[in-house]
Amino acid sequence: MQAAIATGVDEPLTFAEREVPEPGQGEVLVKITACGVCYTDLDVLRGHWPNARFPNIPGHEITGVVAAIGPGVSWPPVGASVGAQILGDSCGHCDYCVRGEQILCPLKRFTGIDFDGGYAEYAALKAGFVSPLPDALDPVAAAPLMCAGLTAFNGLRQAGIRPTSRVAVVGASGTLGTLAVRYAVAMGARVAAIGRSTRGEAAARELGAERFVATADADPAQALRAWEGGADIILNAAPSTAAAAAAFEGLAPDGTLVLCGYGPEPLSLATGPLALSRLHAMGNPSGSPHNARETLAFSAAHGILPDFTPIGLRDANAALDAMAHGQSGRRSIITFD
Ligand SMILES: [Zn+2]
Ligand SMILES: [Zn+2]
Repeated sequence: MQAAIATGVDEPLTFAEREVPEPGQGEVLVKITACGVCYTDLDVLRGHWPNARFPNIPGHEITGVVAAIGPGVSWPPVGASVGAQILGDSCGHCDYCVRGEQILCPLKRFTGIDFDGGYAEYAALKAGFVSPLPDALDPVAAAPLMCAGLTAFNGLRQAGIRPTSRVAVVGASGTLGTLAVRYAVAMGARVAAIGRSTRGEAAARELGAERFVATADADPAQALRAWEGGADIILNAAPSTAAAAAAFEGLAPDGTLVLCGYGPEPLSLATGPLALSRLHAMGNPSGSPHNARETLAFSAAHGILPDFTPIGLRDANAALDAMAHGQSGRRSIITFD
């Protein structure tokens, strides 16, 4: 099979022929239809994941069809359409695993980081960590739902979104941010989109945002406080910790900042407002298998899919470079025939 291989930090991907893997105990072999290029792939290649394994096949926004099953697999059957996400394995018996929060398992393992992922024609994946792909979802466009979609959907829910919540999305023009705006609107929330310039305003309003704040023109915290006292949730979709910190004081009392995007630098917050208004700051690392299934079901029910550009496997380096230079509006999705 054709595969793209990450050989080390700050090295471009190389391309090679590899043996199609044999599915092991509890694994399915997935013939990959599509794999999205996620910001995390770039983060790993920049050395921000100290435990990342090299050489490794990246990629964790996977859709495909089960081509074979390994020993001990009762589901999914050969021929099933599935999606696979960054959480690829966990211990199965810790307190977090037994309550369905495998994403919090201390022994969790990540697809495309700890073991080979989706920048290849086939991948061997744990059956318990793939999700059935609803027929209503186009299998190429649905690939980014497995990471960007799941992270946005689950981030909103972990932060306690309710109908009528005021939700601000920082970095609203990227794939994660766009999906967060669409999910929040579909969940009955009111949305303010925050971007660097007014370039993304028309698109955000079309998706249902009632306010737009351009940080080049206005202080985002002040602009949010002018929105009936502030946002109940600020979801940071930008790959920048500073962008999240700049908006933090735009929270209403008891409001929550949830970091879905972030940079390697620490998060610095004003302690007075944090304590006196009982504000909350949390992260959200993707989600557990049941969260992935809910994301797909909700996306199918509401027709939510990202805009994307299909690319070939050998275009992956160019797509990652564009992302590194902040030129990536639409998701690049590697497709295989
Ligand atoms: Zn566990
Ligand atoms: Zn990702």
